[in-house]
Amino acid sequence: MLSKNDILDELRAPDSHALRGRADAARREHCGEGVFLRGIVEFSNCCARSCRYCGLRRENRRLKRYRMSPAEIRQAASTLLRWGLRTVILQSGDDAHYTTAMLCDIIRDIKTDAPGAAITLSIGERPLEDYEAFREAGADRYLLKHETVNATLYDRIHPGQSHAVRMSIIERLRELGYQVGVGFLVGLPGQTAEDLAGEILFLQDFQPDMAGIGPFLPQADTPFADQQAGERETVLRLLALARIASPGTHLPATTALATLDPSEGFAAGLRFGCNVIMVNGTPDSYRASYRLYDKRVCADLESARRAIRLAGRTASLERGDSLRLQPAE
Ligand code: SF4
Repeated sequence: MLSKNDILDELRAPDSHALRGRADAARREHCGEGVFLRGIVEFSNCCARSCRYCGLRRENRRLKRYRMSPAEIRQAASTLLRWGLRTVILQSGDDAHYTTAMLCDIIRDIKTDAPGAAITLSIGERPLEDYEAFREAGADRYLLKHETVNATLYDRIHPGQSHAVRMSIIERLRELGYQVGVGFLVGLPGQTAEDLAGEILFLQDFQPDMAGIGPFLPQADTPFADQQAGERETVLRLLALARIASPGTHLPATTALATLDPSEGFAAGLRFGCNVIMVNGTPDSYRASYRLYDKRVCADLESARRAIRLAGRTASLERGDSLRLQPAE
């Protein structure tokens, strides 16, 4: 068990060599050498929310908005499946244009097309009954980043939203039997080292099925345009600490980390405990408009495989379900 002081000591240590070694050993023991490749379709960049760090926030009039039709979404998912990927992540802003019935139809269609594939939803906050409907339609996993465990900071940077509501939804998702992904940003304006230690303690307590950990990155058309990005080294240390605190959690080497370090970000994440890379299957005509932050670097199959080789690991096309669901040996 890590204590708050253990975590703070690691964040302040002169180097992260030993920490990386411990995380790598935990990753090897719990996850093996395979790096799961998962496919993501960002099907709408319309969002009803106003998160102060995000380029998709509704006040951003400079962003060209798009919504993929259900047929386009199915087509993009089927391309990912044809590439051999066994997880399709459907992601969007909080966009009520897509009704419960529309999304359930899309989920069912993808499942009919590929019954053995897993579907992950990353579509934000919806009425509670929707989560149940999506689960019944066949969705397996849900990513809902909690963004920060500091409720005051959360409420300040998410106008109109509530940390308590966010956390209660995450609990509900677990009750419904989803494999649940959480996640947080590193280097948010106003975030402290104590907050970051709190993130690791939360992961240690909650033991999520997945966790996305990446740097805050400024986007030019947001209130945080002039703020400093999160630091690469801090992100890597937190990934390593996450692996140690919650060893069975799937940890992606995130696009945000790769954006901070385009030459080695994915591989560095893999060396610090990560075991997943998300391959972008959003059609080219839309991809640049999914501008959560500037200069976003996405993985394609080739760059993902290159990063995996660089890190001395092997790519896995298996579904990569939660390690919590797998029988102990
Ligand atoms: S972080 Fe998510 S909910 Fe917030 S504005 Fe961006 S897309 Fe919308």
